[in-house]
Amino acid sequence: VIQMNAVSKWYGAFKVLNEISLEIQKGERVVVCGPSGSGKSTLIRCINRLEEHQKGDIYVKGIELNDSVKNIAAIRSSLGMVFQSFNLFPHLTVLENLTIGPTLVRHMKRKDAEERAMHFLRKVRIPEQAHKYPLQLSGGQQQRVAIARSLCMEPEIMLFDEPTSALDPEMIKEVLDTMIELAESGMTMIVVTHEMGFARTVADNVILMADGNIVERAEPEEFFFNPKHERTRTFLDQIL
Ligand code: ATP
Ligand code: MG
Repeated sequence: VIQMNAVSKWYGAFKVLNEISLEIQKGERVVVCGPSGSGKSTLIRCINRLEEHQKGDIYVKGIELNDSVKNIAAIRSSLGMVFQSFNLFPHLTVLENLTIGPTLVRHMKRKDAEERAMHFLRKVRIPEQAHKYPLQLSGGQQQRVAIARSLCMEPEIMLFDEPTSALDPEMIKEVLDTMIELAESGMTMIVVTHEMGFARTVADNVILMADGNIVERAEPEEFFFNPKHERTRTFLDQIL
């Protein structure tokens, strides 16, 4: 459902992605890890055109990601993204955060959008927070709102960029549990994270990025217990 062929990107003279080729099937869960500055965020931001790649090509659901505004809109409508910093609208309630996309962009009736919002708030286990403002919630609750907000747009693919790294330890688990349930529902997911427990239980494949390259891509068992590359071994030594 996602295909990248020799994708490169530069920031000025600095090559941040070096001929990345990557294929992700529908329903697949891929975890991306790697040292700071290796290009993980840039890689997933290129998939929804928050960043523009300069060489190679990217297809999402068979649609080419190029300058065509129509293509970009079509691709974005099938992608959801969750960031490290929850990026909720602070002046809107939780419920309004969840209904604004469906009503404004998808022209859903308010009542239907609210029903859908409550459905996903129940899924992430915080329906009782619907009428609060984001800053009245804990970090873990805010991140679950962010996930629910993405789901309200009915994405086929979810991109996560370090969704738990801004959270206190006791809140990490509740967000990971939400993501595990999402994975079990069959969602296609690309998750940048250093939560190796999550990678081991949920991922079909784990990718190590270093210096703009995909160094290794393997099933968790292989990746953690029998990595092929020295670079993967040194990385795992540092974080485990
Ligand atoms: P982290 O683990 O710290 O989030 P990352 O693997 O996500 O790192 P990226 O954010 O993709 O790394 O950045 C890759 C490289 O590109 C870094 O060296 C960074 O400094 C550089 N970079 C990122 N964004 C920009 C930008 N807008 N302009 C210039 N350089 C950038
Ligand atoms: Mg990053």
